[in-house]
Amino acid sequence: MEHLVPQTIDLLKKEVPVEEGSLHLNGDEVKTTGLVLVDLVNGFCTVGAGNLAPKMADKQISEMVEESVKLARLFCERKWPVLAFLDTHHPDIPEPPYPPHCILGTDEANLVPDLQWLENEPNATLRRKDCIDGFLGSIDKQDGSNVFVNWVRNNNIKLILVVGICTDICVLDFVSSALSARNRGFLSPLEDVVVYSRACATYDLPLHIAKTLKDAIPHPQELMHHVGLYMAQGRGAKVVSEVSFGALGQS
Ligand SMILES: [Zn+2]
Repeated sequence: MEHLVPQTIDLLKKEVPVEEGSLHLNGDEVKTTGLVLVDLVNGFCTVGAGNLAPKMADKQISEMVEESVKLARLFCERKWPVLAFLDTHHPDIPEPPYPPHCILGTDEANLVPDLQWLENEPNATLRRKDCIDGFLGSIDKQDGSNVFVNWVRNNNIKLILVVGICTDICVLDFVSSALSARNRGFLSPLEDVVVYSRACATYDLPLHIAKTLKDAIPHPQELMHHVGLYMAQGRGAKVVSEVSFGALGQS
């Protein structure tokens, strides 16, 4: 039965296509582009790190991490703003329908080893969030302020480049909320939300494995990654498969 999945994906990609463009960031955009890293934490990205971590080496996830780390370095070299969401939960507060994951104080809730340096990076903002949607997770429970909205405003960001995991869950929900907020005028001066497909990934739970697990819903990786991109595009995000930069120091 497994061979049906690739065929289904090919058919689906024709029926619900994603128009992938490219994004070139040159010196003119120095002060206007921000990078949003969604949940590059061990609990989702590092093999064997927890209930929602990959069980074995996963090409899509490792490429996502590699591309995201590369982008984070390029942004930081240019002193462009970076915002990293870290999925983090209090041990007593579950997040249905998911099993316990990324518990506060454990390594699951920390950035992947290749991004640890971001913790000491002055132009990076790290935000722990206890829900799927980073926009909602940016709201301060005490005063109602929003870390993400303030980050956009304070850095005068006109374009955000969104990467991370999972394409069809945390990335999609954040992108959808950001676009609704932009359309309502909450996110001035933000104009564009761009999703970089090669720096996004989702988890893999193929049908033949899901069938052997109690209450598990199948989640074929390549198909759901595609669906996530398609939905993001449908909400008004631009999807790109290539990001290039002008020379450092160009202005
Ligand atoms: Zn979570």
